[in-house]
Amino acid sequence: MEQAHRLSRQLHGEGGEDNATAVVLTLSPAPQRTVQTAEPATSKSTAGPNTHSKPKILTPEAHLCHPPTETDLAILAEESQKLEHASPEEIIEWAVEHYFPKLAMATALGPEGCVILSIVAKIEPRVYVFNLDTGYQFAETLELRDRLRERFGIEIHLRRPELSVEEYERIHGGPVYKTNPDQCCRDRKIAVARRVIQGFAAWMSGVRRDQSATRAQSPIVGWDYKFGLVKINPLAHWTAMQVWDRIIREKIPYNPLHDRGYRSIGCWPCTRPVAPGEDERAGRWPGMCKIECGLHVVDGK
Ligand code: SF4
Repeated sequence: MEQAHRLSRQLHGEGGEDNATAVVLTLSPAPQRTVQTAEPATSKSTAGPNTHSKPKILTPEAHLCHPPTETDLAILAEESQKLEHASPEEIIEWAVEHYFPKLAMATALGPEGCVILSIVAKIEPRVYVFNLDTGYQFAETLELRDRLRERFGIEIHLRRPELSVEEYERIHGGPVYKTNPDQCCRDRKIAVARRVIQGFAAWMSGVRRDQSATRAQSPIVGWDYKFGLVKINPLAHWTAMQVWDRIIREKIPYNPLHDRGYRSIGCWPCTRPVAPGEDERAGRWPGMCKIECGLHVVDGK
């Protein structure tokens, strides 16, 4: 936690030159049995309060609206605008009220995910939380998952590709991340995510607008064209500093790699520490023309 304080000081511009490792921060999974089908939790009132008076896009049946109408999109945009000045707690309460039990949360166990998880634990701990376990995650990331579960009592389901790393690399003649990282991400992340969110109406992510140009336009609430459900970004309007202040203040567990110069942490073959002054996501896919795994971008946009 001492290191987290150092991070916060650096973000506040109080770090001296001795803090050359100027860390870090961002968004973006101990083997466990693979769960083949995510089963949304049941609730006494499956549709939530006031369902009958709500447009369907604002109910757990939202996925039936695929593709959404112009009216649906306008409704989501309006709701997003209303939430623009809301706290992450209020946004997550909104998400739970409208979409639970068909509400999921995806997390790569970055600082944003840790903060969101801490809030979800207080509001509705039965939200289905999953991590895309590519088989290439850092040991530190997997250990963090265990610490978060102990602290908040929420299971973070590790969802894996059908092929193990060994099978995958054997079929492709070696590590695909070296030759075609886009395909590797498609096979080991996107395809898994597509399978996991089947049956959910909405999902939450830790995307923040100031992480990168590709995320700068992220709404608080919107339609996810790629996966065909509502997407909620409770921290879209937060800064890295706000995230780390919350982590420090509430002593939320975080990935120790952040104390070693890593800001955005993904799979170990595609992540390096960043130097002071580098972009938050500069350490992802170093040396390649790739800055996103594809989960949070719509193809062609
Ligand atoms: S981040 Fe790298 S190792 Fe992980 S799925 Fe993408 S290309 Fe493969």
